[in-house]
Amino acid sequence: MGLLSGRKTVYVDSDVLVIGGGMAGCGATYEARYWGRDLNIVCVEKANIERSGAVAQGLYAINCYMGMQWDENQPEDHVRYARNDLMGLVREDLGYDIARHVDSSVHKFEEWGLPIMKDPETGQYMREGKWQIMIHGESYKPIVAEAARKAATKVYNRIMVTHLLMDKTKANRVAGAVGFNVRTGDFYVFRAPAVIVAAGGASHIYKPRAVGEGMGRTWYAPWSSASAYALPILAGAKMTQMENRIVLTRFKDGYGPVGAYFLHLKTYTENCNGEEYESTWYENTKELVGDYIDRHPVPTCLRNHAILEEIKAGRGPIRMVTKEAFQDPHKETIGWENFLGMTIGQAVVWASQNIDPKHTNPELTTSEPYVMGSHATCSGAWASGPEDYAPAEYQWGYNRMMTVDGLFGAGDTIGGTAHKFSSGSFAEGRIAAKAAVNYVKDLGKERPQVSEAEYQNLKKVVFQPMENYEVGRNEIVAGTVSPSYLLPIHGLQRLEKIMDEYVGGISSHYMTNEPLLTRGLELLGMLKEDLDHLGAEDLHQLQRAWELQHRVLASESVTHHTMFRTETRWPGYYYRGDHMKLDDKDWHCFTLSQYDRESGEWAMEKAPVYHIVD
Ligand SMILES: Cc1cc2nc3c(=O)[nH]c(=O)nc-3n(C[C@H](O)[C@H](O)[C@H](O)COP(=O)(O)OP(=O)(O)OC[C@H]3O[C@@H](n4cnc5c(N)ncnc54)[C@H](O)[C@@H]3O)c2cc1C
Repeated sequence: MGLLSGRKTVYVDSDVLVIGGGMAGCGATYEARYWGRDLNIVCVEKANIERSGAVAQGLYAINCYMGMQWDENQPEDHVRYARNDLMGLVREDLGYDIARHVDSSVHKFEEWGLPIMKDPETGQYMREGKWQIMIHGESYKPIVAEAARKAATKVYNRIMVTHLLMDKTKANRVAGAVGFNVRTGDFYVFRAPAVIVAAGGASHIYKPRAVGEGMGRTWYAPWSSASAYALPILAGAKMTQMENRIVLTRFKDGYGPVGAYFLHLKTYTENCNGEEYESTWYENTKELVGDYIDRHPVPTCLRNHAILEEIKAGRGPIRMVTKEAFQDPHKETIGWENFLGMTIGQAVVWASQNIDPKHTNPELTTSEPYVMGSHATCSGAWASGPEDYAPAEYQWGYNRMMTVDGLFGAGDTIGGTAHKFSSGSFAEGRIAAKAAVNYVKDLGKERPQVSEAEYQNLKKVVFQPMENYEVGRNEIVAGTVSPSYLLPIHGLQRLEKIMDEYVGGISSHYMTNEPLLTRGLELLGMLKEDLDHLGAEDLHQLQRAWELQHRVLASESVTHHTMFRTETRWPGYYYRGDHMKLDDKDWHCFTLSQYDRESGEWAMEKAPVYHIVD
């Protein structure tokens, strides 16, 4: 029996299709129902929204809360903060839009049952830092998911979306998406006039520090597989700031977060000799980036830079001084709870390595790079801004609509807006959904048309790796190496090696240059050719195969952007060895790319940065 005969195709029609049921997707689903009472709202998720996405394990803090009810911060303050941390380059219109709406989302979380820690005297939310509030967040995701479940017409769990569908009657307009059920193998055709991509960021495009059996232990969730970028890229949407990958300083081997330690426990770092080292690198950093080093707070990448330079100077490891703070039983409890609520793995690693932070100062390390749009960096799609606030050049349609009609995004998907975190991603999902509902209503009875030929062809393409395996496995004589197909894990390791060695990963201390990038692109091109021969032995491996496809496309985008920006804007995230200095004269701008899926070519351009907030 042929691979496709007997494979069921399920058709799902909706008005608003939300791809990815993480924080942004849940926010979008919830809000779409509010504005579109009579609309058909569908959310499709490759895992189960109950525990999916980067917040799956829970969180200990909500990192984006203004506190306007207590006059703690105003949205403009958050724009200034994010702009400073990103060395001047953020979409201030989008950031302001999130900041002015984020508090109300947090209030909803509390109403739905999320326990937020409060100061017993003032009743105000307990702060971990200027923007962070502390929560008992083990069940953060199920609480948020419940709201989305109740709002959706239907949530389709366990369906991996592989491609977007385009309208056959109008160029550059989205018409839906296709994917497959990772449990049953059914093929799904989702038809919808408005599609909101909220599929998270990208881990595992660079070789992780943990390899072999430990390779799943990355900081960013291993299931964040770049669909948020690959889906719009393939549909021709413009992307921005894809070179702005993130590198995080974290506790070694478990990637346990350091925020609560710095901000709440007031711990600090030192080199192997017990010395403060950041001031050692002040002049060096000033030479590279000018007065950005004098800003407060010091931009995150520059703090990484000092660590990296100190280690290269032979004075590693860098340690977090916990021994003092942990003498205080309250702080000791907070220190452990911080991990138990969201990174249990770090506590396990310390137990296994005989590290009791009360007696041993634990080592820190810098992570491999990740690509994301909601944490401290802002890679993602180029989106239209809010009607009342965005400069004319940033407005070509509905709020959060990409450069493809009907295609919206939120959370890690949307570029230019760092520091939105879990709450800001949820709020941005709500903003995108409100606009998407308006878009659908404005269309009236008109609907995009899906081409049967397009989705029938995609059905073949999607299941081809299983066909390749079925045929090719007869040629294997031993082990897993086949002359006629490539397993997803082998492709992934090849991708990670290319990105690591040529595009500024850990093994080169995040250094790259034009010749390296050029070679990296050649090798990525060869890898792309070989992806036609991916082999998948089952549906799980088929999912891995498509995750790899998405990662490769996003990696190509990262490499082109890194090549285009001929400066080192964020030392500590990556370095262009051939352009080591920040160059505000030529590069105080956004980088934009657009992929042509027919020719496989990338077009690059600059876009201006508008400073709206003083
Ligand atoms: C380690 C870590 C710690 C963090 N700590 C904090 C913190 O302390 N406080 C805070 O406020 N924020 C924190 N964040 C940030 C926060 O988790 C993110 O900002 C937020 O989850 C981004 O929302 P999102 O919806 O864009 O992505 P996610 O929440 O990751 O959701 C993406 C969803 O898309 C699904 N998906 C992906 N691809 C597909 C596909 N092809 N088809 C169908 N579904 C797909 C995924 O399964 C997932 O459910 C942290 C993030 C990480 C990684």
